[in-house]
Amino acid sequence: MSYDVIVLGIGAMGAAALERLASRGARVLGIEQWTVPNSLGSSGGDTRLIRKAYFEHPDYVPLLERAYEGWRRLEASSGVDLLYPTGTVYVGPPDGPLVAGSRRAAEDHGLALELLSVDDVHERFPGFRIAQGSVAAFEPEAGFVLAGHGINAFAERAAAQGATLMTGTRVTGWRAAPDGVVVTTDAGPFQGDALVVAAGSWAPAVCQLPGLALNVTRQPLFWLWPDRSFDFRLGEFPCWALELAGHPGIYYGFPSAIPSTLHPGVKFAHHTPGEACEPDGAKAPASEAEYQATLRSATSLLPGLRGSRVGTSICMYTNSRDGHFIVDRHPEHERVVLACGFSGHGFKFAPVMGELLADYALEGRSKLPADFLRIGSRDLWRADRLRSQP
Ligand SMILES: Cc1cc2nc3c(=O)[nH]c(=O)nc-3n(C[C@H](O)[C@H](O)[C@H](O)COP(=O)(O)OP(=O)(O)OC[C@H]3O[C@@H](n4cnc5c(N)ncnc54)[C@H](O)[C@@H]3O)c2cc1C
Repeated sequence: MSYDVIVLGIGAMGAAALERLASRGARVLGIEQWTVPNSLGSSGGDTRLIRKAYFEHPDYVPLLERAYEGWRRLEASSGVDLLYPTGTVYVGPPDGPLVAGSRRAAEDHGLALELLSVDDVHERFPGFRIAQGSVAAFEPEAGFVLAGHGINAFAERAAAQGATLMTGTRVTGWRAAPDGVVVTTDAGPFQGDALVVAAGSWAPAVCQLPGLALNVTRQPLFWLWPDRSFDFRLGEFPCWALELAGHPGIYYGFPSAIPSTLHPGVKFAHHTPGEACEPDGAKAPASEAEYQATLRSATSLLPGLRGSRVGTSICMYTNSRDGHFIVDRHPEHERVVLACGFSGHGFKFAPVMGELLADYALEGRSKLPADFLRIGSRDLWRADRLRSQP
């Protein structure tokens, strides 16, 4: 059987693309090497932050507005609660990117963002203790989405609308054919009019762009059981993102008592590229030293975050050279669409990425304001391959 579109990889992006493609009546096949969902790629686990006042760049905001609509649509069609707008507190130094960038995105797009004084933060959220001179903001619509349940919902809705999902099947290669694309797998070849490559950290092996710089990194995350001197429970405490002067990236976390989570307690992590790793290789488990370093940094602004460690996990980022997503048609194969380089902040966008990938695969273009994610003239190439790239 031949398909309109084959989707390589059923993580967050592949699952969302399958759901949107199937909703438009396309004959679609998704191929996943493990299970759906799985914890071996980048979309494992329970929760991901979602926010609109996007410090990374205001251009993401219209896509985020659309992503929020997409999460609500998925909740309605699946009957599962997925989006929890708990509100998120941002704290950092006045000259750092987190609060200033969030303010800029909110001002450019008229988003709700409350600027808080140090005293406001202490009064509203007693778990914090921030230095005078810090800046802070609260975004009421920000919060988290349920990751595994979200992927499940995309996959189930895709299947209910006619998509075929093959799990436990590895794509070994693909080639352009006169009428489309032939995808080879360890279960035989499949033919499609178009191919969406949504392979996460395996993109370097399957996207057929050897010069693309994609740095795959190992990312530890942690859970602690709070000692209850402050209340971190969902409904009482928001999500949080903290920038520390002299530290790269941000420290972030979630409330405790989130329904059906992997571990009880408060989940927290450091959002910055970690050690380079191979997607298939063994990854060292999160160590006590990593836990202590992340906790020490987070508690320098959030000393109420005390308790005992109850869980750790390892996930992967696939970092593009500029930290922005790469979503475009393949420069050498117009029937192949690439979605990679989500650089540790892609999950929240999954519904709108599904729409974008469906647009590119079925129509070759999209009306969504996502040209800034195309390859174009961005500096995305490995230094040693710069000269050989278009
Ligand atoms: C610790 C951590 C915290 C994060 N926190 C946030 C957050 O708070 N908010 C947020 O928005 N984002 C967050 N992210 C980022 C977000 O989770 C990722 O950007 C997103 O999950 C990427 O999805 P993906 O579909 O591209 O990749 P994946 O989920 O990895 O999916 C790719 C799939 O392709 C499959 N595959 C690959 N090659 C083949 C092959 N040859 N054959 C068959 N199947 C194949 C893989 O098995 C995999 O299932 C976080 C990421 C990590 C690791």
